[in-house]
Amino acid sequence: ARKFFVGGNWKCNGTTEEVKKIVTTLNEAEVPSEDVVEVVVSPPFVFLTFVKSLLRSDFHVAAQNCWVRKGGAFTGEIRYRFIICSFFTAHDFDLLSVVYLAVNFMFFSLNSAEMLVNLSIPWVIIGHSERRALLNESNEFVGDKVAYALSQGLKVIACIGETLEERESGSTMAVVAAQTKAIAGKVTNWDNVVLAYEPVWAIGTGKVATPAQAQEVHCELRKWLHENVGGDIAASTRIIYGGSVNGANCKELAAQPDVDGFLVGGASLKPEFVDIIKAAT
Ligand code: 13P
Repeated sequence: ARKFFVGGNWKCNGTTEEVKKIVTTLNEAEVPSEDVVEVVVSPPFVFLTFVKSLLRSDFHVAAQNCWVRKGGAFTGEIRYRFIICSFFTAHDFDLLSVVYLAVNFMFFSLNSAEMLVNLSIPWVIIGHSERRALLNESNEFVGDKVAYALSQGLKVIACIGETLEERESGSTMAVVAAQTKAIAGKVTNWDNVVLAYEPVWAIGTGKVATPAQAQEVHCELRKWLHENVGGDIAASTRIIYGGSVNGANCKELAAQPDVDGFLVGGASLKPEFVDIIKAAT
């Protein structure tokens, strides 16, 4: 059986105070056990270690992105800063820490995937439609990122989904199959991958896919995996739905046989995220 998976994608939202509030709500929530539901929240990069330090131990943390290859001259891709931050929060500034940092700068070239592993952040979201659309991430680039993240030991929430135009022209399956193919070609261990089907027209619009629409695509995706990757992998890989999921519509979606959980945006910033976690049972 596939364990239900609920991810909260906070996107580019949150102040320190808001983050504390969300985490407190989650920490106090009574939800099904870790054996029943896997809960992963994905704060912006700057809050990753902060959230990890506050969050209950049965919930996990994901980054929203990471760089496609090993570190180097990639301005704006996050590298040493977080290692330094986490080091200084854990240690006093003394001679030893100066030596540690000097050694760090000299010998390690960590990029964000390696940093995430270094900070024990187990998950990363890759290929979100907002990055595909706004930052021109192609299927191939997304595949390369998945490959690199997996090679470093991260677990990946890989996102796919069609636009409204593509749906209306009848090319939904062709689009998501091409996106899945670019990812599947790079996956070495499917245990470390969750596939998130997020129709672009349903993201942030309040226009959720109907349970039947979601089930139809999830079922087709599982068939695609069966035919192109293998029966066991098709049966065991979680395919989660994202796009305007909330506390009111989650139960009916969760009841679909091929919907194995959710990737939640807006509602993951609110107390109703707890209701969505509870949809696991
Ligand atoms: P909303 O839940 O806000 O529609 O966002 C979905 C999403 O993009 C999750 O990754």
